[in-house]
Amino acid sequence: NRQFILNERPIGAPDENTLKLVSNAIPEPGEGQMLLRTVYLSLDPYMRGRMSAAKSYADPVEVGDPMVGGTVARVVKSNLDGFAEGDWVLSYSGWQDYALSDGTMVTNMGTNPEAPSWALGALGMPGMTAYTGLLQIGDPKPGETVVVAAATGGVGANVGQIAKIKGARAVGIAGGKEKCDYAVKELGFDACIDRNADDFAEQLAAACWDGIDVYFENVGGDVFKAVVPLLNTGARIPLCGVIAQYNSTSTPEGPDMSGALMAQFLTRRVTVRGFIVFQDFGHLYPDFAADMTRWIKEGKIKYREYLVDGLEQAPTAFLDLLEGRNFGKMVIKVGEH
Ligand code: NDP
Repeated sequence: NRQFILNERPIGAPDENTLKLVSNAIPEPGEGQMLLRTVYLSLDPYMRGRMSAAKSYADPVEVGDPMVGGTVARVVKSNLDGFAEGDWVLSYSGWQDYALSDGTMVTNMGTNPEAPSWALGALGMPGMTAYTGLLQIGDPKPGETVVVAAATGGVGANVGQIAKIKGARAVGIAGGKEKCDYAVKELGFDACIDRNADDFAEQLAAACWDGIDVYFENVGGDVFKAVVPLLNTGARIPLCGVIAQYNSTSTPEGPDMSGALMAQFLTRRVTVRGFIVFQDFGHLYPDFAADMTRWIKEGKIKYREYLVDGLEQAPTAFLDLLEGRNFGKMVIKVGEH
């Protein structure tokens, strides 16, 4: 059983010493337990927070413990009612080949689910994040302009597509021309701006000629700075993530803009609300699952995975995710179906 344990807490970006691959015997399930074999491991930006000691909305991973993570797995052996050998499950086995489970937070997906890995993306936590944050906090109205960065990623791609379903204009922001072309041509965004362009702020202003009504915040940093002057009166900001600063070790240099920012939010009566998907909106899961399944069947939601083969690739792939080298939802294929 191969597993990645947290070897030391990173300062700044994780490096080759952050995680360590260890190997141990495949565990035997006891009474009331089952053994799961990981097929897919989801890599998500929140994992960077779990590597640090600071307590966030979830406890940090302890040094020496396996890294946590959402997985799609198969039941190898079960001493648990409701789970049988061969079943597919959505689980939280973490970065390892095998895990024991007592069934807590495990969903049985049956013996033959269609596209099982989608339970980690459009049909899972990232899709639910987009759905709830956009609709509960952003509340886009037909004709309004919704802006989202990381527009081709696990969360952002769904934000844009759901905004379109609700009749709003969707303007994406992504790293590079290829991602932007995909956002417009495949995902149906009205426009998508390359965040690396020299005239990024000007291009964003031109694409948002009527201002911004909803800014779904995934990234922070320079993108946020370009967005603020464009916010309309009454704009809503679902505050989902600030990936631009997950690896930073100090506050950015320069004048303190927080007072000026508050004044702008006040005069334009902007609502900013942070949310953590399952803590705040877990009760909406049935609505999400029903709507999303229907939209996918109707072809209204498209989904792209960035599949990386092999558990041993996970640390490099995780850095790629934090630095925008993924193109779609980052998933590691750990084992065979
Ligand atoms: P993505 O699949 O979107 O991958 C991350 C993307 O962020 C990269 O591909 C890159 O896209 C973009 N990015 C990286 N660095 C920067 C930067 N400096 N400036 C701008 N963009 C950058 O990840 P997810 O969809 O899984 O997550 C998106 C956000 O949602 C994250 O902030 C995450 O923490 C948050 N989140 C929050 C949840 C909650 O409950 N609040 C739940 C799930 C996710 P590109 O190259 O295209 O710019």
